[in-house]
Amino acid sequence: MLYDAASCLHRVHLDLRGDPSARDEISAFVEMLWSEGAAHEVAILAQVPADTVDLRAAPTADRRELTRQAMSAGAPLILGGELSSEGMLARPDVLRRDGGAYVPGDVKAGSATDGRGRPKAAYANQVALSADLLIRSGRLDARRGFIWDRNGTEVDYDLDLPQGTRSPATPWDVYRKTLHEVVGVLEERVATRPAAQAACKLCRWRSHCHAELVRSDDPTLVAQLGRSARDALAAKVRTVTDLATLDLSSVVRPGGRTVFPGVGAARLARFRDRARLLCEAGAHAYARQPLPIARAANELFLDIEVDPFGDRTYLHGILSRSRLADGEDERFTAHLMAGDGLDEERRAFADAWAQLTADPNAVVYYWSPYERTMYRALQARHPDVCTAEQVEAFFARPRTIDLLNDVVAPMTDWPLHDYSIKTIAKHLGFRWRDAEPSGAASIEWYRRWLQTGETNVRDRIVDYNEDDCIATRVVLDALLELPVRQAEAASW
Ligand code: SF4
Repeated sequence: MLYDAASCLHRVHLDLRGDPSARDEISAFVEMLWSEGAAHEVAILAQVPADTVDLRAAPTADRRELTRQAMSAGAPLILGGELSSEGMLARPDVLRRDGGAYVPGDVKAGSATDGRGRPKAAYANQVALSADLLIRSGRLDARRGFIWDRNGTEVDYDLDLPQGTRSPATPWDVYRKTLHEVVGVLEERVATRPAAQAACKLCRWRSHCHAELVRSDDPTLVAQLGRSARDALAAKVRTVTDLATLDLSSVVRPGGRTVFPGVGAARLARFRDRARLLCEAGAHAYARQPLPIARAANELFLDIEVDPFGDRTYLHGILSRSRLADGEDERFTAHLMAGDGLDEERRAFADAWAQLTADPNAVVYYWSPYERTMYRALQARHPDVCTAEQVEAFFARPRTIDLLNDVVAPMTDWPLHDYSIKTIAKHLGFRWRDAEPSGAASIEWYRRWLQTGETNVRDRIVDYNEDDCIATRVVLDALLELPVRQAEAASW
């Protein structure tokens, strides 16, 4: 529950009290995540010393007592233990003796830290619960634990370490707050609501919640208006319609501040405008300002596919479009790994890098910062392909454009609930050849192709990626034609 609550408290509520028949089918990708996670755990825990107490196969009813006995006997390592106190229950993968204490740890098939190097909130909540129960029973002296991550590397979690310069909150503070909320949901004291967010993508309540959001005209249906902004607006804005009809002059204060904490005037105006687009039948997208893009003689549209388990970038798809004297030439190149090894990853990366950098005047488009992040990781794994400085210089070029974050999100408004490439390109009439296109599904196909060698699965991976690249080109072409809305005089 604490794991799920880190991303969505409403999910805890639905898992407890929702109608199970309203859940979506489990996707092949989620099944793959589960089986990969279980296999990873088995592989990591197979490497423990011989004197380890392994309770993973013990009857569930006996585990708590067996764990207590093992700790009392001073076992150096306990696997599959169970801790319980005051109505709380934790099952840490690992308990390791450290002097007179036991430190809890979990095995994860993902990275132990988020993009900023901080403990992942969901993992930290789990470790903190185990630490809490150990501290309560006098078996641990400090708020700490660890994760054995996807590489088998141990990452310490100091649960008392503040997580940001702007916020003094520690993982322990977050855990205590989340625990309080979860208990509130259990005791039916805390009411929860769905919110459109990234976590919905892989959640089995997705269809159920979306229907509820539409029925209630929830403000998170406005693109990029998340749960915290909804909470901040709640005093005056309960629905998309409220937002669309909001009189900004009544809520904006001098200096661009508003009566809504944390939501400035410019951001509020954008939300209001997007809400209007959603409320208006037949509304069309527009640019909020002239867009800094233009057709170029050579354009490259880049999209990569990454297997987070194998830590491999297995496909770099590049669609090139060139102006010729008698028209245009458009062609797609798939730099696909044909095996799972590092050598193959290096080859595909080197080939893609050569194509991307061959023409220094080509304009390169990609969608979201993911490509840059992954190219940094690729460079670190394969430093003979290019230097870190070259990767930074490539993505810093004004001709290398993150179409979503450099243009679409800050400068345009669409009559859509989200600004994913899928949603925008489909709105523009583009159709993927695959009936169920998604990056998550592609990872599952890639895994299957490596195991079976089936040509049709390989084609599916490549076709899907090519369509992503074409979709990026379709969006670019639409942006070039987008009308620029007349600047509205600020009424505050
Ligand atoms: S679909 Fe979204 S809002 Fe609903 S429970 Fe899942 S994560 Fe929460």
